[in-house]
Amino acid sequence: MRVAGSEIQIILPEEQLKVSSQDLLEWVKSAAGAVEHYYGRFPVPHLTLRIRAGRGENVGHGVTFAKGGGLITVAVGREAEVAALKDDWVLTHEMIHLAFPSMAEKHHWIEEGISTYVEPVARAQVGQLPESEVWKQFIRDMPQGEPAPGDQGLDNTPTWGRTYWGEAMFCLIADVQIRERTRNRKGLQDSLRAILDHGGDITQDWDIERAFAIGDQATGTGVLQGLYKEMADKPNPIDLGSLWQKLGLALNHGEVTFNDIADDAPIRGAIVSLR
Ligand SMILES: [Zn+2]
Repeated sequence: MRVAGSEIQIILPEEQLKVSSQDLLEWVKSAAGAVEHYYGRFPVPHLTLRIRAGRGENVGHGVTFAKGGGLITVAVGREAEVAALKDDWVLTHEMIHLAFPSMAEKHHWIEEGISTYVEPVARAQVGQLPESEVWKQFIRDMPQGEPAPGDQGLDNTPTWGRTYWGEAMFCLIADVQIRERTRNRKGLQDSLRAILDHGGDITQDWDIERAFAIGDQATGTGVLQGLYKEMADKPNPIDLGSLWQKLGLALNHGEVTFNDIADDAPIRGAIVSLR
């Protein structure tokens, strides 16, 4: 499959699943489309995507490797229906891993956090996920990224919550701060695109400092480097309640409500809106 000048070599499962090969190809196309739209291009020139049959009714586990210029393996449940492919986030998450350089083990959180944060945003920007769903997820799940007692910062606390949601929180705060400082003209998306445009894809081993310096240069701010200093080696609890309020967001009985006259409501709109 060709996507925006890149090639995805797809290896289909040997056994017959409930979904057809055509359904699988549509699924790959929509995940690749969301990622391409967010980054302005597909992250690597050649990706090998191995789809295997898994258990159950959902898309299962995915893993992304730098091998051969980019390799993703992902399981699709034998009983999965087309709806499960339409709702899937796993493949988009994995493809986003292609768009950031490989880091030393202690910075694993940044790789997971970027995928966790960008995946719903990228899907919302192309209309694959309603905007309210993105915020619902963030409001519901981001508290899991807050430091627990004994936390020693994102570089030294490799728990599940800190790795996935601690850094997703880092990304959201970075996005908001960049937009506040640039009158909403630049965002984290500009930083991440710049890192990729400087050759920082998964096949490259980079220092985190280099990635953040390039990211900051693209927005003319020092946001990523500043936040990293604050969050890398000490617990840095975030007042998420105030953040949601500033963005004009509230969760009532499981539904998100928007306040469009909140100070940062335009920033909220700029991050996620369909474009
Ligand atoms: Zn991941």
